[in-house]
Amino acid sequence: MSDLVDNANATAEYLAGLAVKDARAKKQGPKPTGHCLNCGETLNNARRWCDKDCASDWERLNARGFA
Ligand SMILES: [Zn+2]
Repeated sequence: MSDLVDNANATAEYLAGLAVKDARAKKQGPKPTGHCLNCGETLNNARRWCDKDCASDWERLNARGFA
């Protein structure tokens, strides 16, 4: 009987862990693609936007659900 409870607790903890990971992934946003996510300019490093203006433009659009 206690094995069932242990299994249920382990499953609940596992699912809670997945939800936390998912929330973190969403907060971090998309991965760098080699191009500015806002204007498409080629970036030769791991950045996602060429400058702060592009990042804030993109975040504003993303917050409204357009990106
Ligand atoms: Zn840009």
